[in-house]
Amino acid sequence: MRRDLSFERAIQFAADLIRIPSLPGEEEGVAMRIVDELRALGFDEARTDRAGNVIGRIAGTGGAPAVMLSSHMDVVDVGDVAAWEYDPYGGAVADGFLHGRGAMDVKGPLAIQVYAAARFVDDRPEGDLLAVFSVHEEKGGWGMMKIMEGVPSLPGAVILSEATNCDLCTGHRGHAELGLEIYGVAAHASAPERGRNPNLVLPYVLLALRELSEAQPVDPILGRATLTPTVIECWPKSGNVIPDRIRITLDTRVLPGWSEEVALEQIRARLAERVPQVEGIRVEVTPGRAVFRGWTGWVDESSNFTPGFLVPDEHPVVQAAAEAVAAATGSVPAVRQWKFGTDGGHSCGTHGVPTIGYAPGLEALAHTNRERLDLAAARRVFDAYPQLIRGVQTALVAAKGIPIQGVHPAHPAPATRVRAAAGVAGG
Ligand SMILES: [Zn+2]
Repeated sequence: MRRDLSFERAIQFAADLIRIPSLPGEEEGVAMRIVDELRALGFDEARTDRAGNVIGRIAGTGGAPAVMLSSHMDVVDVGDVAAWEYDPYGGAVADGFLHGRGAMDVKGPLAIQVYAAARFVDDRPEGDLLAVFSVHEEKGGWGMMKIMEGVPSLPGAVILSEATNCDLCTGHRGHAELGLEIYGVAAHASAPERGRNPNLVLPYVLLALRELSEAQPVDPILGRATLTPTVIECWPKSGNVIPDRIRITLDTRVLPGWSEEVALEQIRARLAERVPQVEGIRVEVTPGRAVFRGWTGWVDESSNFTPGFLVPDEHPVVQAAAEAVAAATGSVPAVRQWKFGTDGGHSCGTHGVPTIGYAPGLEALAHTNRERLDLAAARRVFDAYPQLIRGVQTALVAAKGIPIQGVHPAHPAPATRVRAAAGVAGG
């Protein structure tokens, strides 16, 4: 059967996906549409998993590690529909752009990956070509976490479709929302001596956090690790009651190689040093947890930590990708890092699989009411993708036997870095 694998057909598919709303946890319609498309295009496997992710596979001829293409199916909310120039769920093509929510983040690039992969149905790669489409990326990557835990064997490399403006992106900082609790003893506010007011310890805690944030290490490529309180709440919430619990949400951006435990330990150590012990008052720092609800009905309480990652420029996968894109487009792509987090935190940061991104689209348009996909840039990427996939796979075959994982050689052990930074700040 002759399949239409043209760029125009891929963009029609992207427009179809834009017309199906898919907030995190509500991706069922998009997932079903993608599964249908993969089957029609001749993928050997096209199914959803327990979390609601779509798993597609084109079987290789054997012998080489798999290459995994990865995009997310969920989108952020559209906000005020009236403020959009084009219908956010219209999928209109006008003035050289595809318009709407998800046009570039990432239903357009997702469609490009699907159609690029479909070329390998009749021209089998040496290793499997996996095409996975995750749920819940916009909420921290629970879907990709489950995909990586569920694959029978880790792929040799992952290629993401998050906006890179046709550059190659090779990493970002990690992200966690930690909890910091101060427990006291509640009492009627008319007799404060009967309680233990956690509010009185709060200033010490906030000062300690500020000191620690100023002492965070700086990565020469990714910048500074950060740590900042965002939400402060207390219970009971009544003007005439001394509360017994304060909760501070801490947004932390960590460097590659850091686990959530490292982030927690440095905070605990600083608080122990700086916050006076008050009898009846206890300070606790807790890992970030969230309840994730898949459209499949699966409810899972899980960590909300996305690790950082950084694949070095000289890594064979990055080199091969840059050469393939240069050969296909006639210009050498810049190699840089994302400002925002991606599903690569799970594939590379957690599992050590070399992960890169290549896609059209400007970061600045993501999550806005001007979201659009530049079709000229999209066509360039579409034309380059088959060569990119083949180039990465060839590099994986060539690297057989050479350790290709362990992608943080430029990063000393996190504990050393934390101590060194704190030492500098402390004089
Ligand atoms: Zn995205």
